[in-house]
Amino acid sequence: MTAPRIHTITLIPGDGIGPEVTNAVLRILEATGVKFNWERFAAGADAFETQGEYIPAELYHSIEKNRVAMKGPVGTPIGGGFKSINVTLRKKFDLFANFRPVKSLPGLETKYPNIDLLIVRENTEGLYVGIEHEVVPGVVEAIKIITEKGSTRIAQFAFEYARKHGRKKIHAIHKANIMKLSDGLFIDCARKVGKDYPEVQYAEHIVDNTCMQLVMNPWQYDTLLLENLYGDIISDLCSAFVGGLGLVPGANLGTDCAIFEAVHGSAPDIAGKDLANPTALLQSAVLMLRHIDEHSAADRVQKAIETVYAEKKTLTRDVGGTAGTSQFADAVIAALPSA
Ligand code: ATP
Repeated sequence: MTAPRIHTITLIPGDGIGPEVTNAVLRILEATGVKFNWERFAAGADAFETQGEYIPAELYHSIEKNRVAMKGPVGTPIGGGFKSINVTLRKKFDLFANFRPVKSLPGLETKYPNIDLLIVRENTEGLYVGIEHEVVPGVVEAIKIITEKGSTRIAQFAFEYARKHGRKKIHAIHKANIMKLSDGLFIDCARKVGKDYPEVQYAEHIVDNTCMQLVMNPWQYDTLLLENLYGDIISDLCSAFVGGLGLVPGANLGTDCAIFEAVHGSAPDIAGKDLANPTALLQSAVLMLRHIDEHSAADRVQKAIETVYAEKKTLTRDVGGTAGTSQFADAVIAALPSA
């Protein structure tokens, strides 16, 4: 018998609800029998308090070495304070593709049944480059960067994924009627890339209309291709179709590294109360299991999640239940099919 593979993975539990949902996910992953060696790091305010740096150098080295990380949410101060840890890590490792599948869980009833949307968000450009300055007192300028290279590679990612996984249609979402140059370049690149994928339908929708269309009829969409800010906003909107922010997973993918994290933030309003739903980070962990070729464990965890939702007995409050974070994790572990 060959010895089982041990996956060394960087772990950032995060803050707010981060440690609670991370602990739940770690327990479930351990129950799959897959062997992990977690290299655990604080980031953000917690890291600054103990190590004097928002992102310690060892954390950068660990991701560089392992090329895979799982990350809980790390809060970002509003207005002033330090730069977003999420944005900094995405830029540092050039994790240009933010991949967010929004899929209904069988058994969890929402106002929008049978949703299967894929959000592909450009992760390194747009207004998120965070270049802002005061021109004169009372006038502030924020710079939005859109490049041909960045727009082309995210479009290639979306079309390539559609080709491989049989997705039928891509909508590029934009505001090129107002931002003629920047969003104009973004859709121009998407159009050009799309020509190489004749089997995938391509269309363009303006972002404000998209919000209305999504609320009226989300089923008309398949894959949404968005620049950074629109992707952030539309992700939260779409999470509501499948039960809210506690459900939707995400992956930040680059050519060398990948960081798996939920769409939601640190949710300080419910932190430390065992109320958070760990499903979003758990489904991110399922994406990670697939990324590291542990497909059988990924299938088993996904099946267990679906069983728990179908049984409706151990759901967290955000989806109408009364269970705590840890009770939900226990239920998923109990529902894990054997290997
Ligand atoms: P950010 O800007 O940091 O991404 P956000 O705007 O997405 O954050 P969150 O911190 O995710 O905001 O929280 C938004 C709302 O969703 C809060 O009321 C929070 O309680 C709820 N929420 C977020 N994540 C979860 C979760 N895992 N379980 C239950 N409720 C959640």
